[in-house]
Amino acid sequence: MNIVELIERKRDRGSLTADEIQWMIGAYTDGTVADYQMAAMLMAVYLNGIGPAELATWTDAMLHSGSVLDLSRFDGRKVDKHSTGGVGDKVSIPLAPLVAACGVFVPMISGRGLGHTGGTLDKMESIPGFSTALDQTGFERVLEATGFAMAGQTEAVAPADKKMYALRDVTGTVPSIPLISASIMSKKLAEDLDGLVLDVKTGSGAFMTDRSRARELATTMVGIGEAHGTDVVAYLTDMNQPLGDEIGNASEIRESLAVLRGEGPRDLTELVEILGGEMLRLGGQAESVDEGRSAIRRAVADGTGLDAFLQMVEAQGGDPAIADNADLLALAPHRHDVTADRSGLVIQAEARSLGLAAMRLGAGREKTDDIIDPSVGLTMRVNVGDEVRAGDPLVTVWHRNDDTFAEALRLIDAAFEVGDDAPDLRLVYERIE
Ligand code: URA
Repeated sequence: MNIVELIERKRDRGSLTADEIQWMIGAYTDGTVADYQMAAMLMAVYLNGIGPAELATWTDAMLHSGSVLDLSRFDGRKVDKHSTGGVGDKVSIPLAPLVAACGVFVPMISGRGLGHTGGTLDKMESIPGFSTALDQTGFERVLEATGFAMAGQTEAVAPADKKMYALRDVTGTVPSIPLISASIMSKKLAEDLDGLVLDVKTGSGAFMTDRSRARELATTMVGIGEAHGTDVVAYLTDMNQPLGDEIGNASEIRESLAVLRGEGPRDLTELVEILGGEMLRLGGQAESVDEGRSAIRRAVADGTGLDAFLQMVEAQGGDPAIADNADLLALAPHRHDVTADRSGLVIQAEARSLGLAAMRLGAGREKTDDIIDPSVGLTMRVNVGDEVRAGDPLVTVWHRNDDTFAEALRLIDAAFEVGDDAPDLRLVYERIE
């Protein structure tokens, strides 16, 4: 096959056959196709798009470019959840043990935070001793023992995506819906899943700020799942304001424990129930999402979700005493309340600026090799729509009183607005299957 001929065809809006796509992805992974040639191909796809059948083959070729989990020996359905990322989004942490406690395996492979968004791995690593670096055998051992495992992606999973993502990053081809969809789905489908729930965030703190683009992304990923024979359901959910009250790392573990005890904030608890209900439906443990939601509530009420979480923490080297001893989770030495300067309704608590403020404090990364400080962050004291009086706290800042503090305060000031007419932000905008 000739890569130049394939690039020319895509440039001229033609389509590629399945054999051609499979060859091209393999040849790019092993270096036969050069970066500059793949860059031209990616730009052609960015500008001209790609058909659904081509995209399904493209994703399949990426997923088979590396190792794929084989969980067929597990006697039960395997379902995972993927979020496109947001601020305060710790849903996975209480969700996975609750779903596992209800009888569905959750082989959860997660990512790290970058920029204004946090990452599940960083949050979990704020638990003393906890390791997210499991090899395949270790991952399967934890999955078998506790019903779920939470680890990072190994180098062996979808190497074509790793190489292609780095190339997209330097060629202006990241914001392409088909390329994003193939990238996400190739990694998720490598987990050998029966079902997948996608939480596609939309709003100022989301990767896709615009709702119609978020819907297109969700629909494209659901289509890839269908072509692959995996049940995929997507939810479009709000990321104009942070999810839950805590933005940080150790603090998000504390908040996740609160959800597992039935003491979590309303928005976070509700989203865990909805996504969990859907996962149980896909996992064959509930007839409907509502029935699944009831099962999730029962796993909170009877403590089986919390027990599953602590078992998994211990199995991955962490200290389960975090459940009873809050001092084991780091907390910054200084606190400062930012207050409302007038009375009225909170009309904005802008997620992106608040995420950036937490990042500046040290809770997130500006560059991939930055080190996370698990102790710092923000605690939201209000939601959009709440009534406040002048002087009421809007957010508590947990900090180290260094020069990042003043910078974070500037971002926080820009994030909040108190006025007279609050927008009607919904938690879930749409369900797409
Ligand atoms: N996340 C991914 O994994 N891939 C993309 O292309 C964009 C976001």
